[in-house]
Amino acid sequence: MMRAPPLRHVFATSVKEAAHLLATDPRAMILAGGTDVVPNLKRRQFAPSLLVSVKRVDALRAIRAVAGGGLSIGAGVSLSDLAVDARFAKAARALRSATAQVATPHIRNVATLGGNLCLDTRCTYYDQNLEWRQAIGYCMKAPKSSGGVALRDKEDCICWVAPQSPKCKAVSSTDSAPALIALGASVVLESKDGERTLPLRELYADDGMAFLTKRGDEILREVVLPADFQHWTSTYWKLRRRDSFDFPVLGVGAALKLGSGGTITDARIALGGVLSAPILVPESATLVGKTLTDDAITAFAELAAKHAKPLDNTDLEFPWRKRVTKVFVANALKELRGDDRASMGRLAERAVVG
Ligand SMILES: Cc1cc2nc3c(=O)[nH]c(=O)nc-3n(C[C@H](O)[C@H](O)[C@H](O)COP(=O)(O)OP(=O)(O)OC[C@H]3O[C@@H](n4cnc5c(N)ncnc54)[C@H](O)[C@@H]3O)c2cc1C
Ligand code: SF4
Repeated sequence: MMRAPPLRHVFATSVKEAAHLLATDPRAMILAGGTDVVPNLKRRQFAPSLLVSVKRVDALRAIRAVAGGGLSIGAGVSLSDLAVDARFAKAARALRSATAQVATPHIRNVATLGGNLCLDTRCTYYDQNLEWRQAIGYCMKAPKSSGGVALRDKEDCICWVAPQSPKCKAVSSTDSAPALIALGASVVLESKDGERTLPLRELYADDGMAFLTKRGDEILREVVLPADFQHWTSTYWKLRRRDSFDFPVLGVGAALKLGSGGTITDARIALGGVLSAPILVPESATLVGKTLTDDAITAFAELAAKHAKPLDNTDLEFPWRKRVTKVFVANALKELRGDDRASMGRLAERAVVG
């Protein structure tokens, strides 16, 4: 059995206290549900000097209306709670569906939204125990020089997936991020220097090592859905090997605002699991002014799939995952058009929950 090393562990009782602890110790790390941190400690991918638990910070577990419209979701809200919350049943169904498909019921009961958004990137050559990684000579994300601990800055060590690549290609595997990017969410980060708000998509960088743009001393405090989110319609499609539980190897978040006669007045389509960052498909706005005809859907799905660049470092054949991107984007749009999922083939039965 793998065990976590002995560690200092404190419970913060407020965001301010947690921010102070992070500011005074650059090797301190936030512990939320621990469902990613603890396995990574056991595999010696993380070696923090201090774990700052935010489990007792009540303010992080609130969901509240924002003045002027919109909804704020505390970073400490559990995925189980999000997956059944009636406020997300219609317009924000992408969020309900994405959170309902993370891991297992036991994990979702303790896993938090903040932890899901800050989830470490994944790779076959990295998500292994220390001895396994030592045997292959480590890799760029967690090199020998650090004793196999994940770094943010590149050192001279090979990437086994793309040996010529200057960047680590570990995969962003969070389910909630593509759903929330499609919903137009922003995030509020707090540190001892104050707070700042940025669009969720800007929290990420396409780099398997430095995959978050936030500083190490910043806490993700809340996620904010925009004032008009109730006027949208949305969905989330997930590709994974096992239906019972598995990380996404493709996630498609799709949200549309529809006008009279089904004309699209705004659109956001996001992809996860196919790069080191979840992305908003840059051509999303080309859907505006169109109706969801088969031709428009096919043309957009082709554009979107060009941005999927899966590699051979996670589950399922990567050329096939790229091809499925096109199918899933098209199916997500067809679902938002009102098509019956049963008409979309076998994969459709498994890809959507909620
Ligand atoms: C068997 C198994 C299956 C899984 N399947 C999936 C899956 O299908 N889809 C999926 O998306 N994930 C999956 N996960 C990963 C994980 O369970 C989830 O992503 C979960 O939501 C992480 O949340 P947490 O609260 O446990 O985070 P933690 O493990 O506590 O933290 C994760 C990271 O986020 C940071 N962090 C946490 N909260 C904050 C905050 N408020 N501010 C700043 N940083 C913060 C931590 O420092 C850490 O780096 C799986 C995990 C396991 C063990
Ligand atoms: S993509 Fe390359 S550098 Fe990154 S974790 Fe995998 S093998 Fe290591």
